[in-house]
Amino acid sequence: MFESLGGRLEDALSKIRGKARLSEADVELALREIRNALLEADVNLLVVRAITDRIREAAVGAMASRSLTPGQQVVKAVNDELINVLGGETFRITYESKPPTVILMAGLQGSGKTTTSAKLARYFKAQGRSPMLVGADLQRPAAVEQLKTLASQIQVPMFSEWTSPIEVAKAGVAEARRIGRDVVIIDTAGRLTVDAELMDEIAAISREVRPKYTFLVIDAMMGQDSVNTAKAFNDVLELDAIVLSKLDGDARGGAALSVKEVVGKPIAFASDGEKLDNFGPFHPDRMASRILG
Ligand code: GDP
Repeated sequence: MFESLGGRLEDALSKIRGKARLSEADVELALREIRNALLEADVNLLVVRAITDRIREAAVGAMASRSLTPGQQVVKAVNDELINVLGGETFRITYESKPPTVILMAGLQGSGKTTTSAKLARYFKAQGRSPMLVGADLQRPAAVEQLKTLASQIQVPMFSEWTSPIEVAKAGVAEARRIGRDVVIIDTAGRLTVDAELMDEIAAISREVRPKYTFLVIDAMMGQDSVNTAKAFNDVLELDAIVLSKLDGDARGGAALSVKEVVGKPIAFASDGEKLDNFGPFHPDRMASRILG
């Protein structure tokens, strides 16, 4: 991901990087190229505008201050702006003082929600926590089985029962408390598209278990569709953060670069492969360096 965007931004910036003087025309040319590169990477149009406006402001400032390295300042502004739209700071998890810390996982079917729940459990375990998985996706019997298999692979307890999603979630949290697990990750049902029934169900679970965090898993490969999905979920659920899956695919990067600005919620974790260890916290600064090379 990002190879094409990185190359195109590099091309745009190489023309001004070493310049001791920048003209307005230099800046406008670079901005046009940056704009086209972002649009081609499937970044939301409003986000592209916001990014280029802020870079223009920094460039005008650099020209006005008669800096000795105005080109470098524009390059830095582009880097800063990438970090900014990718979320700024790395998302920090804090834990409930009275465990368990409950995390509700939402997402469309196929987004990677079930595998991501297990990846997250594996991550918490590696951090010295004692996670538990709860299978509240009762739409697909296979989802509960899939979660059970993943849980046994990472040797994390898993709870489910054939009642209702709300009952499972509630009982799962109670079970975690009873056996002393300090993080509970609840996998919920997905649908092929955002629909009212899905939203009602997950909103009801949320009201019942009052999660500390609600994470939405979105598929990086789906680009702006993922961003629109995130917006729809956030209207109903008040998300805390996004988990971006399938970064290993050939997605152009639009979802990663648009979601914070459009939805207002950061990317907390990212997944870059099917294996359970292809996962970790999302670092906006490292991602920006990867883009700019
Ligand atoms: P759910 O329907 O949202 O629960 O999705 P699943 O967890 O079942 O994942 C759907 C498919 O996407 C599975 O084949 C996963 O192995 C795959 N998948 C999930 N995350 C990633 C990822 O980061 N990269 C790749 N390449 N595949 C992934």
